Amino acid sequence: MQQRRDFLKYTGMAAGSLLISATGNGCIGRRSKANGSPLKLTFKPYDLQLKHVFTLAGNSRTTTPVILTQLSCDGFTGYGEASLPPYLEETQESVMNFLNSLDLGQFHDPFLFEDIMEYVFNAAPGNYAAKAAVDIALHDLVGKLAGQPLYRLWGLNPEQTPDTSFTIGIDEEYVVRTKVKEASIYKILKVKLGRDNDREMITTVRSVSQVPLCVDVNQGWSDRQFALDMIFWLQEQGVVFVEQPMPKDAVDDIAWLTQNSPLPVIADEAVQTKNDVLPLYGVYSGINIKLMKCGGLMAAREMVTLAKAMNMEIMIGCMTETSCAVSAASQLSPMARWGDLDGNLLISNDIFDGVKVVDGKVILPERPGIGVELNA
Ligand code: MG
Repeated sequence: MQQRRDFLKYTGMAAGSLLISATGNGCIGRRSKANGSPLKLTFKPYDLQLKHVFTLAGNSRTTTPVILTQLSCDGFTGYGEASLPPYLEETQESVMNFLNSLDLGQFHDPFLFEDIMEYVFNAAPGNYAAKAAVDIALHDLVGKLAGQPLYRLWGLNPEQTPDTSFTIGIDEEYVVRTKVKEASIYKILKVKLGRDNDREMITTVRSVSQVPLCVDVNQGWSDRQFALDMIFWLQEQGVVFVEQPMPKDAVDDIAWLTQNSPLPVIADEAVQTKNDVLPLYGVYSGINIKLMKCGGLMAAREMVTLAKAMNMEIMIGCMTETSCAVSAASQLSPMARWGDLDGNLLISNDIFDGVKVVDGKVILPERPGIGVELNA
């Protein structure tokens, strides 16, 4: 009995000392009494250089502007990011204006992230990428203070991460063939469609690869019968799902398409925030959740819960981003059927080291928080 008491005393002490070493100064306890140091938010603009010209149904580009954030408390720093592709309608200037308007110094306990993010969400409407930049840094900070990766704090199994798709943009035949050959480690490729050369795109990809494909039409098809015929043809070509085949406002056409389609139809442009999920029941088979659309990890987790309750498929996606935002989204990926987490792999000037893709599968780093370190 004495032995057992000694053991409990020892393990209790060991757990206590672990907590102290994980947090450096035992500040979890202090902070729960709301007397830690005030949260300090800093940020700076950064331009991502894309490895290839990126062409979607709507536009082409070679750079993506982002804002990098840092949120500090008691000697710990969490990293965050807002990625700003043109169709999001947020700019580096609008993000910096939003972040400048926040007074996060009023908070002394980052573990009160429900309170903090409620304040951030109520500060102004919209600005979801800017909100995500705070949310990601806050989650990273909390994970670092707890000394645990987020997936562990959420109870998610890191073995359950999906394979990630790798995106092949619309391009000349020889460029598509080169990109597909370069992407040989991926177990699924995402082909961008929605122009007048859709069948040629697929045929070109198939001339050099036999891996399963998914396609993202980016709202590019306007006729539902044409869309259905295309989906049947795509199924014969080994396509496993179709993302945003028609304009998001064509709700009745998309519901008809989903009902008749042999492949799952996934919403992307049609689903931005958690408020958009419920009306999509019966219209799509699933949703593509992205941190920059919904305002970060807290909102994304709510969307996962909602979609699962409605028996909808979940895909976790990203923008072109550094490994910071992609690693954050990847923490949630064990809950998703499909991952589209290649945004960091499309850029040539990533300043973070984080999530990896090994044999096509998302591998979560064994580091606290979102799992990133700044590259030297
Ligand atoms: Mg998409």
